[in-house]
Amino acid sequence: MTTIALAGNPNSGKTTMFNDITGSSQYVGNWPGVTVEKKEGRLKGNKDIVIQDLPGIYSLSPYSPEEAVARNYLFNERPDLVIDIVDASNIERNLYLTSQLLEADLPMAVALNMIDAAKKRNIKIDANRLGELLGCPVIETSAIKSQGTREAVARAIELASSGDRAKPPVFSDGLERVLREISDLIRDAVGDGNLRWYAIQVFERDAEAAKTLKLSADIAGEIEKRIAAFEAEADDDSESIVTNERYLFVEKLVSETVVFDTNEKLTPSDKIDRIVTNRILALPIFLAVMFLVYFLSISTVGTLLTDWVNDVLFGEWVPGVVKSALVAIGCADWLQRLILDGIVAGVGAVLGFVPQMMVLFLCLAFLEDCGYMARIAFIMDRIFRRFGLSGKSFIPILIGTGCGVPGIMASRTIESDADRRMTVITTTFIPCGAKLPIIALISGALFSNSALIGYSAYVAGIAAIIVSGIVLKKTKLFAGEASPFVMELPAYHLPTVKGVLVHMWDRAKAFIKKAGTIILLATIGVWFLSSFDWHLRMTATEDSILADIGRAIAPVFSPLGWGEWKAAVAAITGLIAKENVVGTFGILYGYEEVAETGVEYWGQLQAAFTKLAGYSLLIFNLLCAPCFAAIGAVRREMMSAKWTWFAIGYQTALAYAASLMIYQFGSLFSGGGFTAGTAVACVLLALLLFLLFKRPYRAKIEARAGDPRRIDAV
Ligand code: GDP
Ligand code: MG
Repeated sequence: MTTIALAGNPNSGKTTMFNDITGSSQYVGNWPGVTVEKKEGRLKGNKDIVIQDLPGIYSLSPYSPEEAVARNYLFNERPDLVIDIVDASNIERNLYLTSQLLEADLPMAVALNMIDAAKKRNIKIDANRLGELLGCPVIETSAIKSQGTREAVARAIELASSGDRAKPPVFSDGLERVLREISDLIRDAVGDGNLRWYAIQVFERDAEAAKTLKLSADIAGEIEKRIAAFEAEADDDSESIVTNERYLFVEKLVSETVVFDTNEKLTPSDKIDRIVTNRILALPIFLAVMFLVYFLSISTVGTLLTDWVNDVLFGEWVPGVVKSALVAIGCADWLQRLILDGIVAGVGAVLGFVPQMMVLFLCLAFLEDCGYMARIAFIMDRIFRRFGLSGKSFIPILIGTGCGVPGIMASRTIESDADRRMTVITTTFIPCGAKLPIIALISGALFSNSALIGYSAYVAGIAAIIVSGIVLKKTKLFAGEASPFVMELPAYHLPTVKGVLVHMWDRAKAFIKKAGTIILLATIGVWFLSSFDWHLRMTATEDSILADIGRAIAPVFSPLGWGEWKAAVAAITGLIAKENVVGTFGILYGYEEVAETGVEYWGQLQAAFTKLAGYSLLIFNLLCAPCFAAIGAVRREMMSAKWTWFAIGYQTALAYAASLMIYQFGSLFSGGGFTAGTAVACVLLALLLFLLFKRPYRAKIEARAGDPRRIDAV
């Protein structure tokens, strides 16, 4: 068994390479942080070779979680070989990591990836010469076109059997001398470990290395003396000294092997970016693009299909066929009702929206794969930063448009605790796939499929995130500097049909699977509770157990305009999975007629809800506590019950306040008169404005005393 690790900068194409050589279809994201954990696969055609896709990193210093994962893997778990994926179109920056990987004392090959993009930009790289200087094979690849990847793997495997190791870079004489002195001092402690690597770490005063080596106080003191002397001589701190030397090494490599096109013109990608990421135009363009997405999925293409699925497939055909089948086999009456009024009505109501969802997912996959969404994180960073937030928080949110769970998990890459918690709390405000049926139902039943409704739901989600960001950041709990955010903007490219379809299907599959499992169970539960009374006798919906429970909680929602028990029940079942809101409506409103008339329950919804109440219901269900799966993810990422409850409480309170204001101000402006509810809405609005504009909390200066490692060093 041979293990090959793929290491490289974020966005250098590691996952694309991984998918190409293993034949799997892992998520290829256009932004850093998608691959937080390493992923494992087997080489196509040789199952004895394990391929590890490591998270993208810029260096091996243990500052971010990704770096820690990668570093720990390379130096402690030790793969048999490393393939360093270098983005040839950004070679200078990428070689910095290479200079560190060379020290891992492992057989290593460099894949000069994105060579197609580099060639397009007229960047000429002498791969052979680069290989000589690095002391390891350098192979040109284009992972996206599946070119050179097999050769890179083959060359790496050859290396493993020859036992050749890559050569670490040689630094200036002065630094080499100190490193030799340190090596002598730590030789015993390191044992058969990687002496040079540890010497450099110790020189940089790396806390982790110190912990592993457990040097005696004498030796540590002696080392510290040498470092301090060298620092005084070089007039710089040890860590910067090493960093500079690495840059010198990289510069030398680049000057000897790379020729850039001196009169490089703006690439088409740059030209597009001039407009798309323009300071003034960027946001309007983004809003317009998202409108188009909702227009296509909710109002046009998606609707045509959904109407057919709702009216014909789940309205007539399926119930018709199922009913005659049940009658033919002489099925018991209660079972017929369970299947028709419960399962078919509930699950059918949810599945009815699959076509709209597919179109939405298709649009999102396209925007992601062509590189546009990466720009959004960049644009958002510019906006967020003004409020002390980081664009890094936007990436989990973008991922959350599919499902909140991976979105919440992606927050792991945010270093600052405060920012990470805040991102976990706000990620699920963005409408995920499961919320789309609610959006589609409300816009279909009450607003004749207006694209504006779906679109406004998306904008409301973003607004909730920004408002929360501003408000929370001003409190003591979340105060602090915004995390730094660096990302490579990949050149725009036409996505492959396969890539987009895989992306779309990944999301749709999860949705359909849920319909067959958790939604199905919930539907049966709702049907049961809405068909029986407390004595377990079958009864009319209005006298059922569910009706009693619903009536007990419904008054809470009266100020939001939907105090009807059925809506209250739907909001609660939505906690199991958001699709349940629609499934529950399908059962509770579809009751009598469903078998004959299909989406008849839309008519009943129109009778039960005003437009305003419907919209308030929509906003509440979008913003309130997410489903249990997402709450579980929040719990895992927060690693604290207290913070999890804070998140749930905050989300639900915000949802309640937003819906209340929408309903109460809406009623006021549509001539409802000033009521007690309006007064409450006014108070909430004043509170919100106060929180938005109050002075931020400022930490005391002493909290910034700095890096603890520095204090140890003094
Ligand atoms: P990772 O972050 O290193 O895992 O990078 P990904 O595999 O997610 O790829 C980042 C982006 O680069 C994606 O949009 C890929 O489609 C694109 N990409 C990957 N390999 C190549 C390549 O060889 N040529 C070009 N032009 N684009 C590539
Ligand atoms: Mg990746």
